[in-house]
Amino acid sequence: MTRQLFVTTALPYANAGFHIGHIMEYTQADIWVRYQRMAGSQVHFVCADDAHGAPIMIAAEKAGKTPQDFVAGIAAGRRQYLDGFHISFDNWHSTDGAENHELSKAVYLALRHNELISTKTIEQFFDPAKSMFLPDRFIKGECPKCGAKDQYGDSCEVCGAVYAPTELKNPYSVLSGATPVLKTSEHYFFRLSDPRCVDFLTQWTQEPGRLQPEVLNKIREWFEPDEEGNNRLSDWDISRDAPYFGIEIPDAPGKYFYVWLDAPIGYLASLKNYFGKIDKDFDAFMADESVEQVHFIGKDITYFHTLFWPAMLHFSGRKTPNHVFVHGFMTVNGGEKMSKSRGTGLDPLKYLSLGLNAEWLRYYIAAKLNNRVEDIDFNPEDFVARVNSDLVGKFINIASRAAGFLTKRFDGRLSADLGVEGLTLLDALRAQSAAIAELYETREFGKALREIMALADKVNEFVDQNKPWELAKQEGMDAALHDVCSVCIEAFRLLTIYLKPVLPALSAQVEAFLKVEPLRWSDSARALGAHRIGAYQHLMQRVDLAKVEQLFEAPPAPKLVPGGEDIAPEIKIDDFAKVDLRIAKIVKAEHVEGSDKLLRLTLDAGEGKTRNVFSGIKAAYRPEDLEGKLTVLVANLAPRKMKFGISEGMVLAASHADEKANPGIFVLEPHTGAQPGMRVR
Ligand SMILES: [Zn+2]
Repeated sequence: MTRQLFVTTALPYANAGFHIGHIMEYTQADIWVRYQRMAGSQVHFVCADDAHGAPIMIAAEKAGKTPQDFVAGIAAGRRQYLDGFHISFDNWHSTDGAENHELSKAVYLALRHNELISTKTIEQFFDPAKSMFLPDRFIKGECPKCGAKDQYGDSCEVCGAVYAPTELKNPYSVLSGATPVLKTSEHYFFRLSDPRCVDFLTQWTQEPGRLQPEVLNKIREWFEPDEEGNNRLSDWDISRDAPYFGIEIPDAPGKYFYVWLDAPIGYLASLKNYFGKIDKDFDAFMADESVEQVHFIGKDITYFHTLFWPAMLHFSGRKTPNHVFVHGFMTVNGGEKMSKSRGTGLDPLKYLSLGLNAEWLRYYIAAKLNNRVEDIDFNPEDFVARVNSDLVGKFINIASRAAGFLTKRFDGRLSADLGVEGLTLLDALRAQSAAIAELYETREFGKALREIMALADKVNEFVDQNKPWELAKQEGMDAALHDVCSVCIEAFRLLTIYLKPVLPALSAQVEAFLKVEPLRWSDSARALGAHRIGAYQHLMQRVDLAKVEQLFEAPPAPKLVPGGEDIAPEIKIDDFAKVDLRIAKIVKAEHVEGSDKLLRLTLDAGEGKTRNVFSGIKAAYRPEDLEGKLTVLVANLAPRKMKFGISEGMVLAASHADEKANPGIFVLEPHTGAQPGMRVR
């Protein structure tokens, strides 16, 4: 029976273009999907924009657009990436589509019918400056578990903890900087702590093949009681108050589904939307037990996809995912991770605009991927080596070495009876078909490519031993030349079949050159025979390292003429966040005996004690003019022992690079209203 697969990638948030992490995930899923299609499975591969939530509402407001227009603009930009990297989704939809409104309400009503929805009045952070409840991602503070600073209100990117925003220490509103206040509101909850959910999930997660072993290990701890013996699976807050861009909760005016409730339902909505286009029965398909539902996701959203999502589906009477395939992040040059919320480094559109071949990147990503939750790293030298020595050097060269002779000497016709040596080689290539198929099936793409390249090595050894370029010069060796070149082309066809899931565009070129129908996996079992091929045209260039390095070049920094100093190299927000700047009051300022440069400042930074700071501003200020004023203090600078005592920080002041030619020192002072101890960010 034909295998039926419903495959998705995680829905990208519709507030920005794709970063390399998206392209990596789509490439992983696309390779798997293309393999399945070649193997004869019926695959429906869909995705959608995750369009709802406060961040999009706020971004749209800033852009002066309605949220609908804003996400439509983002959606219009998706095509260039998907086409550019040969990602073969059957459908791209939006969680704001009619299907998702309808399905989300239906799932919710079924859960409510099953008594798995409850309400509770909760205290939530409210931004008094913006007059709205703050979404989790718009509150930052210190992680309640590990103490990491500047973590979002829903989860910690350092230790992975998931928590309520009210658990954050020292919270602040990202929108206004104001300290949020707690305000009560009635919220709706999905009762994940219900014993039925716990029992179901305990069983569901453990079913063989459902989750990767390391994912299961990570999940397992959520089913064990915490230190106080309480259930770790707590009820999930699924409502948000207006103003909110989302789906209104039935029978609850002014309440909307939290974006994470309707986002995964978007998988179903996109499929339903697609089936509407191809006139296929969505309900019948989803009721079919033999359909396999497969989600490819990043490790940062494991919790949502292995707990909330299956529980929501199961208790609303729906099919649950058969497999959740979790991957790691993609880093560049061993550097920073590419997650859903951050993305820098390798810009996919810049990659395409530089004329770099998308299939080089697909090949490289595939070569690095396995079926475990491991991060993979993009390294330019490694990238160039794999493309040039493996892809071009080992694979493409086989065709370019043999095709010319066939066209010129044999009218493009392949030899029908090949010698023993050639047949043995081809048998060896065909013998690996099932093993390579299994590696694709199990997402061991790196291993698959290593197997394929080992086969290419064998073919190249055959070419080197038989030397067609020498046979071509010898009298009476036509038949031998014909056989050797025909073996090469047949071997090239077999290798193309094996590489086709990774290299779809190149494979289409090869199919045109060989004059064959689109290659399927089963074509590896047959032989071309006395087939006539077309003229060989160059299939793939080598990659130039300089071009790859251009990818990572930052635009030149602008010159700051008035200051006489170039802008310092770019830093990440995390680098800046390491500098703790505080408003400080200059309680006392005095001359320092023996110093013609320094003033001694006594500062109050709201710590309940004062600090002693020496500052080189004597030439510009009289002490009495500074006393009582506010300024900005670098509060976490290591104390410095100076000739006149210990300086416990530094105050910020502006000056020209060439102070002699352009004298003047200007101490920074905040606008009225700032208080000692406030953080400057
Ligand atoms: Zn943490």
